[in-house]
Amino acid sequence: MKWNKAVQGLIAATFGPVMAVAILHAQPRPEPPKFTFVSPAQEMQIGQQAFQDILNQSSAKISHNPEHNRRVAEMLERMTPYANTAVRDWQFVVIEDDTPNAFALPGSRVAVQTGMFKIADTDDMLAAVIGHEIAHVELRHAARRMDSQIGVNLVGGLIGQATKGDKFSNLYNNLYAFGAKGGVLLPYSRKHELESDQLGVWYMAKAGYDPRAAATLWKRMTKAGGKKPPEWLSTHPTDSRRVQEIEEYLPFVMPIYEETLRGS
Ligand SMILES: [Zn+2]
Repeated sequence: MKWNKAVQGLIAATFGPVMAVAILHAQPRPEPPKFTFVSPAQEMQIGQQAFQDILNQSSAKISHNPEHNRRVAEMLERMTPYANTAVRDWQFVVIEDDTPNAFALPGSRVAVQTGMFKIADTDDMLAAVIGHEIAHVELRHAARRMDSQIGVNLVGGLIGQATKGDKFSNLYNNLYAFGAKGGVLLPYSRKHELESDQLGVWYMAKAGYDPRAAATLWKRMTKAGGKKPPEWLSTHPTDSRRVQEIEEYLPFVMPIYEETLRGS
């Protein structure tokens, strides 16, 4: 009996602190998928090609506003070192457009429209937008969306093989078309949005931006809704739970933010 007690005590002493830490870190930093059918190289190619296509569009007016460009550059410089992405040379463009919008593409490319600077008018809020977009890239949400399309195509291809046989070889052509349009520009799923919100505020904390600004930003975004919701909302489906979920994650990232502030 005594021996059992001793063992129990030992277990408690050994695992007690571990369990306490595990509970504190119950909401871990979201991580990219271990495996996707679409390789990082394929995803990068699709994303960078789509970025080039956007720049080549005659309707896309590049903004050379020095202040806007400086702010985006600084945010990428501060936050992307904490993003585990295959492509480290992040590039961005500011597009002259009053619609508040921003997006990131696989292959580490970011675009921010000038209208976004009006809603996200502090560095912390703008960092919330950009952190969220960087997170979509690290978490490889485009690849995961393309993966689900591969699933559809594989089933379609296998059925097609029995009849025609050429569908399967078109898989990657279809994938590019899907990647450039749907994979990049379709709304993300609620789950992916939540993950990006969490990882986005984690980057903010690491880089010394106040993570609480993410909740403020979403409140503002929703308020700016009304009859003509901001374009960002159309590719970033939101609901009343979103701000609440960001706020629930804050206790996990605020100590990281405070640590960053102490360190700098
Ligand atoms: Zn998003």
